[in-house]
Amino acid sequence: MAKIENYNFKDKKAIVRVDFNVPLDENGNITDDTRIRGALPTLKKILADGGALILMSHMGKPKGKVNEKLSLLQIRDAVAKALGTDVKFAPDCAKAQEAAKELKPGEVLLLENLRFYPEEEGKPIGIDKNDPGYDAAKKAMKESQKEFAKTLASYADVYVNDAFGTAHRRHASTAVIADYFDKEDKMLGLLMEKEVKAVDNILKDINRPFTAIMGGSKVSTKIGIIENLMDKVDNLILCGGMTFTFAKAQGGKIGNSIVEDDKLDLAKHIMDLAKEKGVNLVLATDCIAADNFANDANTQVCSVMAIPDGWEGLDAGPDSIIAFRNAILPAKTILWNGPAGVFEFDNFAKGSKAIAEAIVEATDNGAFSLVGGGDSVACVNKFGLADSVSYVSTGGGALLEAIEGKTLPGVAAVAE
Ligand code: AMP
Repeated sequence: MAKIENYNFKDKKAIVRVDFNVPLDENGNITDDTRIRGALPTLKKILADGGALILMSHMGKPKGKVNEKLSLLQIRDAVAKALGTDVKFAPDCAKAQEAAKELKPGEVLLLENLRFYPEEEGKPIGIDKNDPGYDAAKKAMKESQKEFAKTLASYADVYVNDAFGTAHRRHASTAVIADYFDKEDKMLGLLMEKEVKAVDNILKDINRPFTAIMGGSKVSTKIGIIENLMDKVDNLILCGGMTFTFAKAQGGKIGNSIVEDDKLDLAKHIMDLAKEKGVNLVLATDCIAADNFANDANTQVCSVMAIPDGWEGLDAGPDSIIAFRNAILPAKTILWNGPAGVFEFDNFAKGSKAIAEAIVEATDNGAFSLVGGGDSVACVNKFGLADSVSYVSTGGGALLEAIEGKTLPGVAAVAE
């Protein structure tokens, strides 16, 4: 696989798939520019070499239609400021041939939102999966996806994929486009390289003990990764909303707490699996229960097995926090995905904060810690601890799929 560090972009036009899917407020202002900053090392390397940049990204879910609210024009100035140079804009990403042709070394062209074209995702629009014509529509769409990818590829001499957040998708710009470049002219960007290395640290170069902390609202969305981790971890902390599915599965009274009633057997299966694999499964034993889903609700500490009617567990309790810390502090490899409570409410953020702080302590003692997946990243940011863990991943779904052991199409495409 070509390596960006060794590539000389002088006089080359590089088309770079970035993840500029940044959150915007109602006035179109960027509320968090982490993703733009994340792409800068790659973009600056290309410009410093004397290359020209063609930037492409999606934003939101326009579902194959032009939607001004999701126009990348809104972020052009922010990208220009971050790069310290002007950024030209191509208002139609599939008709940017002229703009790309005129691009000189050191210049930057930003393409409009790729997902204004259904070809980007390659899924037929407006036809149900069960419709008799679906397969034919899908086949036709795959063909036009190839054409779309070929058009994008025609703008440039070299392709760089630096969008880890979409690396688990086989989209035109993340994977299909790579077919139109020679092996030596396609590569991962610097951010992608770091992400892939961080996952390798967790999956391949494991220093023990390895503690994984999985939280969030539901067990169902995390089951793939939980099962995969069973073969790898020494300690597995399961916390957050899924606590109550486990408590109920064991005959607990959980009041109004969030629960997946159809996943009680799954919870039992996970407990059995942990026993079978010799994994130390750490579940919350107590919680902070609230009489209302609100920051200013009345609270009481109670066992997760005996929550009074009308009350719901919204955070981990003090005994659970001690158990979590004990499993995190001695660890040498740590993975955290998903909060231990409704951390968006300050009064129910203690469990998540305690986890973040324990991870920082373990990291100071030499552990490799990877925090990833939307909400846990929001957690470490909220507590100001993002710089104190080893690596904060930009990928949500992509990170989880990589840790599940799946091959990411966006990585495989440039490696082939
Ligand atoms: P997920 O998207 O599955 O990672 O879940 C993240 C969400 O889970 C966050 O918005 C949390 O507020 C929520 N969450 C965590 N613990 C609880 C809980 N005990 N009850 C309800 N929601 C929770």
